[in-house]
Formats: sequence, structure tokens, C-alpha cells
Amino acid sequence: MMKEPQVKVGILFAPKIEFSLAGNYLISGKAINGMPINGMPINEKVVNEKSISEKPVNGMLMSEKSVNEKPISERSVSEKLISEKSVSGKQVVVYDQGCILWQGEKYEQLSFECKNEQEDSFELEDVTIGIDFHWERKENQRFQGSLDIIVENDRLTAINVISVEGYLTSVISSEMSATASLELLKAHAVISRSWLLANMEGATDKPVIPSDSCTANSDGEKIKWYERDAHTHFDVCADDHCQRYQGITKASTAIVREAIEATRGEVLTYNGEICDARFSKCCGGAFEEFQYCWENIRYPYLTKQRDSLNQTALPDLSKEAEAERWIRTSPDAFCNTQEKQILSQVLNNYDQETTDFYRWKVTYRQEELSSLIQKRSGTDYGQIIDLVPIARGTSGRLWKLKIVGTKKTQIIGKELEIRRTLSQSHLYSSAFVVDKSDLKDGIPATFTLTGAGWGHGVGLCQIGAAVMGEQGHSYDTILLHYYKEASIHKLY
Ligand SMILES: [Zn+2]
Ligand SMILES: [Zn+2]
Repeated sequence: MMKEPQVKVGILFAPKIEFSLAGNYLISGKAINGMPINGMPINEKVVNEKSISEKPVNGMLMSEKSVNEKPISERSVSEKLISEKSVSGKQVVVYDQGCILWQGEKYEQLSFECKNEQEDSFELEDVTIGIDFHWERKENQRFQGSLDIIVENDRLTAINVISVEGYLTSVISSEMSATASLELLKAHAVISRSWLLANMEGATDKPVIPSDSCTANSDGEKIKWYERDAHTHFDVCADDHCQRYQGITKASTAIVREAIEATRGEVLTYNGEICDARFSKCCGGAFEEFQYCWENIRYPYLTKQRDSLNQTALPDLSKEAEAERWIRTSPDAFCNTQEKQILSQVLNNYDQETTDFYRWKVTYRQEELSSLIQKRSGTDYGQIIDLVPIARGTSGRLWKLKIVGTKKTQIIGKELEIRRTLSQSHLYSSAFVVDKSDLKDGIPATFTLTGAGWGHGVGLCQIGAAVMGEQGHSYDTILLHYYKEASIHKLY
């Protein structure tokens, strides 16, 4: 068994960072000592060397060696321990010409290492939360573990170095409701841990690609999918881009701690690799497969299936007639529920109005739809004549849709691009059928989309999993229902 790894979480990015240390922290760092400043943070050199020497694999099951190596190699850079003494209390670090200015001295990097993760904590001031959301604001946040300060993009980055299990306790506490069943929380703990450890292994190997470079364009087709950009100097960020992490700002609940402890070190694996354990809000009754949402790779553990244990028959939803019948009816499935007590377990800031996402409807007037599509896609199609389903995946989700306009006709995909193009934010899903009405000279006055599910529908269905937990199914039954060929493996 390997040792529990530590995760580096990028928390705060600013020219000036203020924090206070509650407890005694050991300082290590690399002082500049009057040497010429090249402005290059030390971590960057290490990362570059690593990325050349290691083979570019993502999500490989980590050997004991590779897990232990990473923190040590990055830590060993601080050969010049600047002091053995410990500090506590209020601290200010300021970006200054490629360096960190702290207590009148310049450093290339600084670490404030806690002596005891359970007892020591530090508070970071003015952490931005909800980046790019309407509720974006700043608040002070408290963290366990150590604090690294590095130079990045002409400012400072505050990185929290913390045990994986400590990190997961915080993440599950802020993403899940404390009213969730223990088995649902345990299932989520295994998924979050799998995601994190696969990410840490791949983090420095993965090229940083802009998210919409994943495109396959040909005449009349614009097929695009979105992957999360990897971070260079830390494993994950604290925002929704990775997983929302607020340290111990909000107290964790006993049931979350119990779920983390009960599944300590457990991940989903397939053929010795950690699974890409994707999940979404509601599959709509059938699982989507990976290749219809992202890169054209088929993962055997993300396979089509009915979201049910007793109803196993699943029609071929890639066929238009079958998809239409499926979407216009409300077949039996775990996630076919409107029970508020269950929905509130998985929906953050749960809105009482939105209970109708197993099957939903959206209606647009012609002017609304044509200006929406122009605004969202940047393409002027003119008036919209038709939205034609071209290709559907295994859950009935469209991954190719033809937009027929008076000025332009084009096929777009994959599912997220379709959802972004047809809504101010995101359409619930791309599993929909289209009804046109009040045609004048071949131009419909209204379009009604009737749809199924919420999100991409690949992997675990959160609403379905919540129902399974309520019905008394154990977390391994839940996980192996949604990730069929996978197994649960204890790494530490
Ligand atoms: Zn991130
Ligand atoms: Zn479902």
C-alpha cells in the first residue's frame, strides 16, 4: 500500500497576500541573496524537467514510487532552509519584480509548513469565490495543512498543501448536502478521490490546452468539445473549475467525515488505471457514453445502460424514432423522481421550482431563438428555419445538430456546444426533440424543445444515486451500477 499523498491546491492569485498563522509554522524558502533576479520561479524548472522525463499518461494508477516522488522532488528545491525558527500570527507577502517580498527580504519561493495538520490552521484574507458567477465575492477562508507561496504570471499564488483525505472532507462538505444518505456520500467520496488522484498523476504531464482547441471542423460542420485545462504549478484549484474547496471555513459534518473515513484510500479502477469517474445531475433514464461528449475514446466502464436495476431493456436511442418515444414519455428509472427531500441532497442552492428536469420543456419565439443563437455562437444564421437532429448518443443526447437558417446552415456539436448555443447559460441537456409551430413562408414563429435529463449523462447520475442511497443500496452497488466494468480498489 502506498502512503497517503498530499495535494497542492491553488487558492489565491494576487500581487499582495495577507494571512495569519494560528499555530507555529516552519519556514523554508529560497532567498535571493543579492543574486541577479531572473524572475523564473523554481517550481517551473522542476515541472519542465519532469514533463520531459515522464511518459505522457493521464489517469494511470499511481505506483507508490511516483506518488511519493512528486512532493519530495518539488520540496527538495528548498535546499537553502532559511531558518529553523517558526513563525505565527499575521503575515504579508508582496510580489516585487519576479520575487516574493516578505519581512524585508526577497525570495523565489516560500513555504510555511505546519507541524500538525489537525491542530494548526491559517486564514487567508480576501479569497475570491464564485469566479465569473453573479455572486462572485471575497471572503476570508481558513485552511489546515501548509501554505506555499510561489511567483506565477507576475503575481503571487497561495497554494494549500494538504492530505488528500483532509482535502476531500472539505470538498464533499461544500458540494453535498448534509441530508444526503451515508451511502451516497461514500459513493461521492470514491468518485472525488478517483478524480483527484488521476488528476495529480496527470497534472504536470498534461499539456495546457485552451479548452476550445478540441475541435474537428470540416465543411458545414463545427464539432467542438470542452476539456478542463490542467494547472501547471499545483494539482487543482479551489473553484468550480476543479472542485469547490473552502478549507475548514465551514465546518464539516459528522456524516461527511464518516463517509470519508469509511472509504479511505478507495478509488475506482479499470485494468489497473484509475477511472475517469465523470458524473452529472440526471441522466434522463439512460447513460450516455464518453465518446459522444468528449474525445472519441470508448471507456468500457462508461457504457450505455438503463438507470434501473429491474428495468433493463434499453431501446436504441441513437435511432430517431426510439429517441423521440423515449424523450416524450417518462420511463421508469432511479432518477425519475420529483421528491424534494431527495433532490435537495444533490442540488446546490436548491431551487424549489426546478423539479422538472427528468423531462422538461423550453419554448422560444423566432426572434428570441435567432438572436440567441447569433449571440451564443457568433454566427449569423439569419432566421431559423429548422433544428434537425443528425446524430444521437446512447442516452438520446444529440451530439450533432443541424441549424438551418435563412443565411447559413451548419452542423454543430458535441453536446455541450449544442447546450451552450441554444440557451443563455446552458440548456438542461442535448437530449431533446423539436416542435415548430405557426409557420409563415416556411419560417416557424415558435420552437418548443422537449428534453430529458440534466447534464452530460455520462457516469454516475447524481439524482439516481441519491434515490439508490435512500432505497438502501450500498455505495459499492451504486458505484458498480454507474461504472459497470470498474472495481473499487484501496490504494492506502
Ligand atoms: Zn482548476
Ligand atoms: Zn439517471
